[in-house]
Amino acid sequence: MVRISIPTLPSTPLLPPTQLSLLPLNLASQHLSRFIQDGKGKTGLITGAGVSVDSGIRAYRGKEGHYSNPNYTPILYHELVENSPRGEMFRSRIDWARSFLGYPPVRDARPNPTHIYIAALQVLGLAPKHITQNVDNLHPKAISVIQSSFPSTFPAPPRPTLLELHGTLAKVHCLEHRHEQSRDDYQQELADMNPVWNEEAKEAERTGRRPRTNPDGDVDLRGVDYTSFRVPGCRICRERGGKEGIVKPNVVFFGETLTPQVRDQSLTIASEASRLLVLGTSLATYSAFRLVKQASESGKPILIISTGPTRADGLKGVEKMDRRAGEVLRTYLNDVLKNQTTPEYQAVKESLDKGVIKLPPDVEGPRAEG
Ligand SMILES: [Zn+2]
Repeated sequence: MVRISIPTLPSTPLLPPTQLSLLPLNLASQHLSRFIQDGKGKTGLITGAGVSVDSGIRAYRGKEGHYSNPNYTPILYHELVENSPRGEMFRSRIDWARSFLGYPPVRDARPNPTHIYIAALQVLGLAPKHITQNVDNLHPKAISVIQSSFPSTFPAPPRPTLLELHGTLAKVHCLEHRHEQSRDDYQQELADMNPVWNEEAKEAERTGRRPRTNPDGDVDLRGVDYTSFRVPGCRICRERGGKEGIVKPNVVFFGETLTPQVRDQSLTIASEASRLLVLGTSLATYSAFRLVKQASESGKPILIISTGPTRADGLKGVEKMDRRAGEVLRTYLNDVLKNQTTPEYQAVKESLDKGVIKLPPDVEGPRAEG
């Protein structure tokens, strides 16, 4: 006898992508609400460069998947660490010089409202674990904004899990022993060793004539003589009297692979999640796409809110809202926070308007998501 089984309907029905993208904001917010509710605190978050555009950080890729800045050639890992005069030239005279001038705007960037909303999902336990492809340190800053809003009588809970898949510009490490130090400290060392460049950088800050920067803190300089720029080796190696390791920003470059620890951690977070909420990313990098693909193959629901095409469009279980994540999150959070008075909710309520919108000076036309 053939047993006929009636498939159970998922509690959040899948809508065709066009229909989902055209929902009015309140219905889009309700759809997100059901998605998160059905996740029962095990919704995993994956975010990308599209989230940071409003903080003046330029997205790598625009609507059609091209680099937003056509003149930008990303630094390649093999160039940075090449152990030869050519590698040395790349490191000291080009990469670090550009990075030295390009870092202050990244250092000073503030989280925008969308960063705060995403941190709110984490702090409220709605989607506690978060994997980001962003290296701009704005997600940690957003969590700090909410944590600092907790009343002194009710200390903030421990920071929620945030994995920076491609590293962070807030740190550097040496290639010899992977000694880590803060980028701010290393920036100071660079400034001390290169007083003329430091004057140039200060002048740029004074006049607001900041160079164009890309999301990795790199800056595009043409016709500049890099030969005068000096790059210190690892301070920790030096203090221990060993060979000074080459210092590298703690970010994954194009052509470089993730460390096994980070890769494993990302796979663990994604596999422990019951569903994935993907925000502001085209998932163009394989390290992030792999997590979504794996969730799709395991039959997990996936909701993507991002403008433009993504690499995961059309995968099984993927729902797509082609719109900016921030507006949907804001509407959803307003609803969630209504009538809630616990310290967590109060702290989040107070933080919602602390995001700062600052567009990069030369963004034209529709804003890009990465
Ligand atoms: Zn070292």
